[in-house]
This record gives sequence, C-alpha cells and structure tokens, in this order.
Amino acid sequence: MAEEFDIIIVGSGAGGGTLAHTLARTGKRILILERGGFLPAEPGSRDRPQGTQGNSCDKYQDRYLSQETWYDAHGRPFQPDTHYFVGGATKVYGAALCRLRPMDFARIEHIDGMSPAWPFSYSDFESWYDRAEWLYQVHGQHGEDPTEGSWSQEYRWPPVTHEPLAQQLADELTLAGYQPFHTPTGVLLDESRADADVVAVRPLLNLLNVTLLVGAEVTRLQTDARGRSVTGVVVNHAGTREVYRADIVVLAAGAVNSARILLSSACDSHSGGLANGSGQVGRNLMCHNQSDVIAVVRELAGAGFQQTLGVNDFYLGGRQARWPLGSIQLLGDQQEARQEARQEARQEVTSDHVRPAIVPRQRDPRQRDPRHGAGRAVGFRLTTEDLPRPANRVSVDGQGRLRLTHVPTGDAAARLLYRSLRAMLSGTRMIAHEILGRPGKPPAAHSADYAGTCRLGADPATSVLDLNCQAHELDNLYVVDASFFPSVGAVSPALTVMANAIRVGEHLAARLGCRPSQSQSQSQSQSQSTQLRRQALRAAGATG
Ligand SMILES: Cc1cc2nc3c(=O)[nH]c(=O)nc-3n(C[C@H](O)[C@H](O)[C@H](O)COP(=O)(O)OP(=O)(O)OC[C@H]3O[C@@H](n4cnc5c(N)ncnc54)[C@H](O)[C@@H]3O)c2cc1C
Repeated sequence: MAEEFDIIIVGSGAGGGTLAHTLARTGKRILILERGGFLPAEPGSRDRPQGTQGNSCDKYQDRYLSQETWYDAHGRPFQPDTHYFVGGATKVYGAALCRLRPMDFARIEHIDGMSPAWPFSYSDFESWYDRAEWLYQVHGQHGEDPTEGSWSQEYRWPPVTHEPLAQQLADELTLAGYQPFHTPTGVLLDESRADADVVAVRPLLNLLNVTLLVGAEVTRLQTDARGRSVTGVVVNHAGTREVYRADIVVLAAGAVNSARILLSSACDSHSGGLANGSGQVGRNLMCHNQSDVIAVVRELAGAGFQQTLGVNDFYLGGRQARWPLGSIQLLGDQQEARQEARQEARQEVTSDHVRPAIVPRQRDPRQRDPRHGAGRAVGFRLTTEDLPRPANRVSVDGQGRLRLTHVPTGDAAARLLYRSLRAMLSGTRMIAHEILGRPGKPPAAHSADYAGTCRLGADPATSVLDLNCQAHELDNLYVVDASFFPSVGAVSPALTVMANAIRVGEHLAARLGCRPSQSQSQSQSQSQSTQLRRQALRAAGATG
C-alpha cells in the first residue's frame, strides 16, 4: 500500500535538509527521500572545513564519489564529482557560507554578456540570510568586505581566527591598500563543519512526524490526468519500485538531478518534461568558473585551517577592469595537491577534455627567484561568475542517460582575475606560481556549484518556478535546491540555497495553515512513519 504524507522532500542537502528542518515542527507528516546513506563517521569525514584540494577532507571527497556515469555534449561518458549522502554536497563542502552581493541580485554587465536580475532584491532576501547563518552557526565579521550588503544583525559567532600565515597575508594586503576579510564559515563548537546532515536533518530523526528514507532514489513523478498536480513519487528503493504520495512534493535533489527528475517525468500533458512548458527545465546550467592557483611562500606554513581569508576587491572589477571579475579565497595547504597535479599532468589526456590553461605553467619560482628558496605551496581559489546560457543544459536522452552540455563563460574575466591576484601578491611574501590542471574530464564534471536549471521568475514563459519556488504549471510541486538561481554570482552558493529553503519553508507552512514553530503533533496515525524511519535507520546503521 502506498504511504501517505503531507509533504515529500526529495534530497536532504543544503536545500532539502534545511527545508525539512524549517517545516518539522509544524507537525505535518514529512517524508524525506534520499538516494544516499549516511557518510560513515571515520577520521577525516568530519574534518574542520578546509580547502577543497590536497587535504584530508579532499581524500574523503574522492573516496565517496558517486559511481554514476554521465555523458558530455558529444555523448562521451565521464564520472561526475558528485556525492550522494544525507546532507548532500554539504557533507564534503568547505562550509564557506557567503551571502551573494547586492549587485548579484541586479542586472549586471560582464565581459561575456549580461547577468540577469533576480525578481527580488538583496534587501528583500536579507532576513533569510540572517536565519540561515544562525542555523548553520556561521562565524564571521561584518564590515570588512567592501562588497557586502547591509545586515540586520551582527554574526552571532566571531570569525575563525587566521592561522599565522593567513594573518601575515591579511596584514600585508591591508598595508598595500586591499581589503581582505574573514571568510564567513559554518563551523560547530567541536570545530567540524556545519553541514545539512548534522545541523538540519539529524535533529529531526526522533520526531514522530518526520521520516527519512535512505537509499531511496526518486526516478520520476506521476501526475493526475490533467497534469496539474503531482500524485505519486516513484522511488527505486534498494532495487524495489515504490510509490509515495503527499499533498505537496518538493524537489531538492540538486540542480542536475532535480532537472533530470522533471525531464524523466514527461507524460501526455507535459510531453517535454514535467513543468517544462517554458522549455527552460535543465537549461541555464551554471557551474562557476573556478581555478585553483598555487602560490609559493618562503615561510614553512604548516598545514592547517587556512580557508579563513577572502578578497573581493576585484568582485566588481576594481583596479584591473571595469567588468566584474570575481572572488579570491585562500585555500588550505597545497603541497600534496601540487605534486598530484604534476603527476596528473604527465598522464596522457584527451585534448577535448582539457580546459585551456589560463596561463602557461611557469618554471618553478625557486629556480628563478632566490627569495623562494624553501618555498611551501598554498592555494587560492579564483571564482568568476558563469552566466546563464540556454544552451548550457542538463538533458536526458532516449535511454534515460544524463547529458551535460556546458561551455563555461567568464574565461576572459578569470584571466584578468588571475592577473589581479599576481599583482596583489607582488607586494607580499607570496608569489603566484601555477594553475592546478584537472585534465581528463569536461570542466563541468568537477563543478561543486551546479545551479540554475529551474530558474525562478514572474513570467511562466521564461522561468520554471514562481517567486515561491512553486512550479508555474503544477499546484503542489516546488523546487528548493540550487536549481532556482536566475544567476549565480561569484561567491559560494550554499548559504543562498539554505536561506531560500527557509523562505520557502515559511511559505509552505503558511499554505498548510500552520506556523513552522508550532509544536509537532504526536498522534498515533504517525506510526507508519515511525516504522519506516526505524527501517531506514537500521538499514543505514546510522548513529545519532
Ligand atoms: C567539494 C565541495 C566543496 C564545496 N564547498 C562549498 C563551500 O565552501 N561553500 C558553499 O557555499 N558551497 C560549497 N559547495 C557547494 C554546495 O555544497 C552546494 O552548492 C549545495 O550543497 C547545493 O545544495 P543543493 O540542495 O542544491 O544540493 P545538495 O546539497 O547536493 O543536495 C542534493 C541532495 O539530493 C540527493 N539526491 C540527488 N538525486 C536524488 C534522487 N534522484 N532521489 C533522492 N535523492 C537525490 C543527494 O544525495 C543530496 O543529498 C561545495 C561543494 C562541493 C562538492
């Protein structure tokens, strides 16, 4: 017999986990369907937030990569850098939890074209940022970053202290007239990262109205005959087909997988895919244009938590250009990553999958610059906005295979940002040395930041979701992962996904006639949910 719920949430990451947390105390019966299991608790898997390459955190990212196969624009297979767990990508993220800048919500001209405006402004959204920062225990300091918007409250937790190396760099940059800032970071008291599993989902597992089913991959949605409502959520649960029903269905499977589910749910009334009358489902895929730059510093900077420093002086162009360039983030110790990159570079690769390097690799600066005799490698991540382009898309072929077509934008801006970094470091003890290559896969395969495949907007002809993230064409379908972004800016997106999920959660609570803070009912009618939850937890071997 099919199970009945008030709300089904597909995916338990930044969007889905945060939404579940927001709605849990309404007392409504909530089913979370998550294709992954719990990330095993073992050394390294709950490390402090660090850079995303060449540290212990990174090894766990690789070990827990999904074994899925996706296909590029030419139909060639590749393994994407995706992680399916309770908590989604936040289980491996760097926990840099930044707000978009106010100008990211506006229409803004880039070298490669226009970044479209959002249908609401930063100030309309600000209070949701504040709520998300509270939930994810963001440690930060307002007033340092020249590009940040206004804030209604100070951060509740002070910024994470710079390691000596980062502090030295901050001092040198400040002297040179730059405005380095402490990167806002979601970090718990035990210094592990604040992820959606630990912060949002686990606290719900002893609530009788919340059921988490792991190992449950949603494959398609069923609708009524007119195609106006979702009537069933079809799940592959450990090889068995099951169907779940709820008054409201929310997709939060991530920007690629939510689009895939909608496109795979084509039916007579939605022949091009569910909610896809506009033809926009899967389109406007944005991945951020990111490159990791190795710099060499003479002092032996110990491996440590160095992802504490950011620089946004070039976010809107600044000294080098009149166009927006992007953000710079100090990453962790990169000694190991540098060696791995060199090994990789020696391997033969197919030329189509090698991103043109921003600059040619240079000779080791230790050979040409005596100041760097006993150098240590540290990393910077440069992030430039990837503009939404209809041709950049997720699609599903006749055999149900997922295809990613993505030509990045922002290469010219990324080159200028790299030049800006070099100029900036010239006044310090660091020297920008080389860009880490990632050969062998299309660039989008490595993306940490998929967004934009079901964008929100007021016009059903050009957007998939309305301003509450409800599908224009269905009365009970919502999407709350990173799919909704009309543009993605050049800062990490997770905080915006979380803030938006809280926003949509409050809308849904109101729609269901309750307030999110209302105490949960514990009626006997929830025994089915309890049973399912126990099964799920037993199957996953999860601990509190
Ligand atoms: C290595 C790495 C580092 C990152 N660092 C940062 C950072 O420092 N700061 C930042 O802001 N962002 C960072 N990000 C990006 C950030 O984690 C994502 O932007 C964010 O998690 C996206 O939220 P989401 O809800 O869209 O997707 P996710 O958080 O990935 O959640 C999607 C969930 O849906 C599940 N799912 C997928 N398909 C199905 C299906 N068919 N059925 C059921 N469940 C399904 C997945 O298992 C997952 O739990 C990083 C990402 C990575 C990979």
